Amino acid sequence: DRYVYRFGGGVSDGGSGDKNLLGGKGANLAEMASIGLPVPPGFTISTAMCTRYYDEGQKFPQSLRDEVAEGLAHIEAITGKVFGDHDNPLLVSVRSGARVSMPGMMDTVLNLGLNDQTVEGLARAAEDERFAWDSYRRFIQMYADVVLELDHGAFEEALEIAKEDQGFTLDTELTATDLKALVVEYKKLVRAQWGKDFPQDVHDQLWGAVGAVFGSWQSERAKVYRRLNDIPASWGTAVNVQAMVFGNMGETSATGVAFTRDPSKGDRAYYGEFLINAQGEDVVAGIRTPQYLTRAAREEAGAKPLSMEEAMPDVYGELANVFDTLETHYRDMQDIEFTVEKAKLWMLQTRSGKRTAKAALKIAVDMANEGLITEEEAVARVDPAALDQLLHPTLDPQAKRDVIAKGLPASPGAASGQAVFDADTAEKRNAAGEAVILIRTETSPEDIHGMHAARGILTARGGMTSHAAVVARGMGRPCVSGAGSIAISAKDKVMRVGGREIREGDVLTIDGATGEVMAGEVATVQPELAGDFATLMVWADKVRRLKVRANAETPLDCKTAREFGAEGVGLCRTEHMFFDAGRITAVRQMILASDEAGRRAALDRLLPEQRSDFAEIFAVMAGLPVTIRLLDPPLHEFLPHEEAEFAEVAQAAGIDVDTLKRRANELHEFNPMLGHRGCRLGVTYPEIYEMQARAIFEAALDVAAESGAAPIPEVMIPLVATKRELDLMKAVVDRAAQAVFAERGTEVEYLVGTMIELPRAALKAGEIAETGEFFSFGTNDLTQTTLGVSRDDAARFLGAYVEQGIYPKDPFVSLDVDGVGELVRLAAERGRATRPDIKLGICGEHGGDPASIGFCEQVGLDYVSASPYRVPIARLAAAQAAL
Ligand code: PEP
Ligand code: MG
Repeated sequence: DRYVYRFGGGVSDGGSGDKNLLGGKGANLAEMASIGLPVPPGFTISTAMCTRYYDEGQKFPQSLRDEVAEGLAHIEAITGKVFGDHDNPLLVSVRSGARVSMPGMMDTVLNLGLNDQTVEGLARAAEDERFAWDSYRRFIQMYADVVLELDHGAFEEALEIAKEDQGFTLDTELTATDLKALVVEYKKLVRAQWGKDFPQDVHDQLWGAVGAVFGSWQSERAKVYRRLNDIPASWGTAVNVQAMVFGNMGETSATGVAFTRDPSKGDRAYYGEFLINAQGEDVVAGIRTPQYLTRAAREEAGAKPLSMEEAMPDVYGELANVFDTLETHYRDMQDIEFTVEKAKLWMLQTRSGKRTAKAALKIAVDMANEGLITEEEAVARVDPAALDQLLHPTLDPQAKRDVIAKGLPASPGAASGQAVFDADTAEKRNAAGEAVILIRTETSPEDIHGMHAARGILTARGGMTSHAAVVARGMGRPCVSGAGSIAISAKDKVMRVGGREIREGDVLTIDGATGEVMAGEVATVQPELAGDFATLMVWADKVRRLKVRANAETPLDCKTAREFGAEGVGLCRTEHMFFDAGRITAVRQMILASDEAGRRAALDRLLPEQRSDFAEIFAVMAGLPVTIRLLDPPLHEFLPHEEAEFAEVAQAAGIDVDTLKRRANELHEFNPMLGHRGCRLGVTYPEIYEMQARAIFEAALDVAAESGAAPIPEVMIPLVATKRELDLMKAVVDRAAQAVFAERGTEVEYLVGTMIELPRAALKAGEIAETGEFFSFGTNDLTQTTLGVSRDDAARFLGAYVEQGIYPKDPFVSLDVDGVGELVRLAAERGRATRPDIKLGICGEHGGDPASIGFCEQVGLDYVSASPYRVPIARLAAAQAAL
């Protein structure tokens, strides 16, 4: 087996198709080299080696040492430099690179190969002593940090002291002599903290770095990131070893990061940042404020320092050509790292660029319109879950804003919440149900869990490509970065700006689209659903087969759902109507009645209320099917539970407190989820379902008469386990229909069907379909009853289950395809065998989950039903499932 793949100098052992083996970075370096772009030569140690490394107790096989030697020889042959040579030393960078980019892993060691001898050789070869010693001190600092994992604060402090001693403010002011002294300091720090001398053998340095990359795959931070992003531990990381090129060789050298289009808004414009006379980490770390890439961007920002387009027009022109080559080649927006060494351009990385939902949408639609990709590819490119960001409110432009600071618009969306100054507090407060804004001077991978828990992120330092900005965009969190006017003390939990103080718990608002930071909460407005969004939805609708309905029970929800493109209501939970202030008293009287006559009297009072509820919904959904589910929850849910409420309710219901309490006691259940609920209520108190059915048919006839567009009611019976239950309940519904039609002298079409939400119902679906005209899979209850896991209590242990790989994802969020899915598949088959045209849908929470929608397409359901805000997500996911 081979583990080392070379690239550069006309050789490419791999290509962009080898991401699983070479990681994203390695595969794309090989690909860029193969299409003739300037890539410094190097080699990639494959992810398979990472897996083997862990399998074999974190040791390297001898064969790898031989292959690495060949890899080094490849680099030496092309560069004419020799690794460890005292006169003409080869320096390399060592970087991790998994299949997908993963903050939380060891990132980069630069300048590897320097020691007390080679530094002298580098100084002579480059004819620049200062450069050589600056590279050496950077190398020790980085190696100590990421490979030896020593306290980097001490090294930064030593650097600060070195500058202060001379009265300097910039690193660049330090002379070769200062830097030599600093190297001595650094080596002392290594010795003191590590207990050993800084490794002088360049091969030891290299193996140390390779081991650190593999080691970082199992770091806590990487594990957290993998868990949040569903990345399996088995993937492993690759290691990329590449000849150094130097952006810090004076004024004709530079380093930068760029996107081929604006990753925030999606505009077709080169977008990026660079620094003259600097190395890569300077840009990302936000140590110096980077300069703009293009003149247009600089002018728009009103910034002074020249853009790359102005400062280095020739190299910029070359870079722009590379951008175009890459976009045409990869047919996607690219995120690039480059270095200019003495006016020569080198490409260090390209990958498909992370982008906001807004940019993803715009870029996909633009590229299809430009003919670069097809409409179907555009549909496939947009992550349905990311649409969530676009469907949620933004700040009301009319609302008053108390702007206290302005930073960069790093990730769009607006968020309000309490100020918190560390990730752990963010996580704690979020878990307690509070909205928080995480405020940091700058973020690092250690803050990821807090960023995830926060509604928004605010930093004082760092550019548009800083850690905070990149991670926030990926997570879909609004972010304002580099708000330079604020001073943050994480220790004292306070942020100061313009003479004002924001302390932990104070509410503030950030607008990630403008970069504004505001004190207090600011009102929001609904999103714009026209433009690119509408275009993509039209394309999605052309390819999807599954219909999309909404779970909705108020006219407002139905309206929202219709605007989002719902093609009917898949689940109207009637019990929500029972809780309404005007009705709850009648509902309670019904429950407290001692006989059928008493229940009927109370139900008579509920009838007109239900009728008008249904009429409103039918009017909004005119011409579309509406599935109305008859009462489901156990009756005690409608009775008071708090002592304080009893007297009030007793009075309203016209009975004494003791009677009320006795009845509440009678209704008490040890396990109400498996108790007297669903059709079991209809079996014991058929008059309840009779009233509901009557309300449905009367409302349908009213709306048909008024509007001419007859609604199509689908009456749904919950929690059925046997055919006999459904037979009985269907008879109740049919009787009510016949009675109403006879009274009115006119009819509407209707269906009677059932939820399939119990394993027995799924198994006996063939029989149940003899009566049921449609099935709607209630996968919330079906998951609960199949797994034997209470949907209300699962949170306590499901996290551990997912962490330990027992279920790949929370089965109440994403369908357990293997288990619950098998019941769904089987019920669909058996139902169809009995009644070939039976209508099949899903109305559990899974109906809005993209992965579960993929499964519904496979099984051939007719529709999915999701909450109104998830309807567009479901439309897009359904289209992707059909592609
Ligand atoms: C279900 O069980 O999946 C369902 C949709 O019904 P409910 O969530 O109301 O129990
Ligand atoms: Mg249910």
